[in-house]
Amino acid sequence: MVSLLPWRQAGSISELTGESLRRRGVRVLLADLDNTLVRYSDQEPSAALTEWLADLTAHGVTLFLLSNSRKPARAAHFAQALGVDYLDHAGKPKTGGFAWALARCGARAEDCAMVGDQVFTDVLGANLAGVRAILVEPIRLAGNPGRYLRYWAELPARLLSRKRTWDREEEG
Ligand SMILES: [Mg+2]
Repeated sequence: MVSLLPWRQAGSISELTGESLRRRGVRVLLADLDNTLVRYSDQEPSAALTEWLADLTAHGVTLFLLSNSRKPARAAHFAQALGVDYLDHAGKPKTGGFAWALARCGARAEDCAMVGDQVFTDVLGANLAGVRAILVEPIRLAGNPGRYLRYWAELPARLLSRKRTWDREEEG
């Protein structure tokens, strides 16, 4: 049975520095968009997001947007604003989008990680695809009651993996 538990947990993407990713052998970081990199209500990347990406780039880590967004052109807009490649309607947790992204980046699954805020799409999909999953806290749950319900359903996976923090050094 495929696990719902992430490889690592972090409070937010700001913990995932370029140096710390490279030290763990992550050359390509697949990233969910909504509530991971930006709020659902955001229309443009924040300055903090742009600076975070610059640090990744400086350390040779490639960012790839792997989004399930069905809003027309939303992922494309952020990808263009950030200067990165993307796939929307990625269909996570199905693995087709992961395979497409890896091929596009010319990367092996073991050289990648996937960061996202949802267990049943981002983490499960990454685990099915053989990509290390990094679970972050959603940026903002308010605005949609369904997000609270989903977060509640995710709690067992979050609790069972709560010691797998990003700053934990052992096992790489
Ligand atoms: Mg999300």
